[in-house]
Amino acid sequence: MSFADMLGQDCPKKPEPKTKTKPKKKKAKSHPVAKAKKQAVPTDQREVEAIRSREKYQLHRSEQESTGSEEYALPLGYLSPTQIEMDLRCPKQYEYRYIDCLKMPPAIALVEGSAHHIALSQNNKCKVKTYIDLPPQTLFDQFVAAFDTGCEDVEDWEGQTKDDILKRAEHMLQQYLVVFAPNVQPISENHIEHPFAVDIAGIEVQGYIDVCMQPSDRRERAAIAPDADVTIIDYKTSSRAKSQQEVLTSLQLGCYGTYIHNSFAKCSAPRNATTAKVDVGFCVLKKSLSANSISYVGARITQERMNQVERVVTDVAKSITLGFFPRCSPSNYLCNPKYCGYYRKCYG
Ligand code: SF4
Repeated sequence: MSFADMLGQDCPKKPEPKTKTKPKKKKAKSHPVAKAKKQAVPTDQREVEAIRSREKYQLHRSEQESTGSEEYALPLGYLSPTQIEMDLRCPKQYEYRYIDCLKMPPAIALVEGSAHHIALSQNNKCKVKTYIDLPPQTLFDQFVAAFDTGCEDVEDWEGQTKDDILKRAEHMLQQYLVVFAPNVQPISENHIEHPFAVDIAGIEVQGYIDVCMQPSDRRERAAIAPDADVTIIDYKTSSRAKSQQEVLTSLQLGCYGTYIHNSFAKCSAPRNATTAKVDVGFCVLKKSLSANSISYVGARITQERMNQVERVVTDVAKSITLGFFPRCSPSNYLCNPKYCGYYRKCYG
């Protein structure tokens, strides 16, 4: 079976629950919190749901303690790069979001980033069939449609206007088509927003990969990672470019790389999990009207890197299971009303 086919097979819409092939390892158990309703609900109802959710979590933990179970108590039954990074950033924030199921109105930055993701994803789907990018206006129209839908629930525009955001989005997408898009050719439609599930130290980690590429699919145009067997690209919309160090230490990219290496372990020659060259990188669309609004920084996934990811994932699963969620330092730049929607709940 080829590697591309293997990735296609590992593309579950809802990853199947894994069988216990390694009985000594701890395994996450699905938790009732996962059934929390996703639709918007009135605040008082949200609070009722938060109380119920917390009660179920505590009941689950006390059952584990009384039976001596070694399973991890994860609110959704699995971890994701988003969950892991939130718990490391601020455990209290994780508790509000995943134990109490308290969702805050979307931040305008999140809506802008999501709209870029949708537009770029549509462009990549088109390229799978045609090897040609969408015209600039069509790509921009995709952004506008996604942004218009997403911004309906935004309460705080943080001093920005819709015109500001649309103007820079048009510029950023034009730049993307010129500067970076020629390097991108997804393996197939399955490898765009590719859902994955990987076992890391007995803990299921799930997520979505923006784009998976192989050099052969990119023909002669591959200017990034030309010698990699597989290259993973993650799109970011940010006020600044990413550094090499941020790419090297990104848990999100580390999880993606581990998944790809594990997929190689399941397929035949010419590559295996040890010799496979897997590159990961951030393509950043910088929120600006400058000429250099697009950047790419990549790195190769090494065994050392995967070991590091495994230790962090294990620590996060253990700390969530213990049920202690301390506040992060108030000096953390993210701990303020602008960046944390739970600030008032935390500090009144
Ligand atoms: S206000 Fe600070 S401590 Fe509280 S959840 Fe937000 S980041 Fe964490």
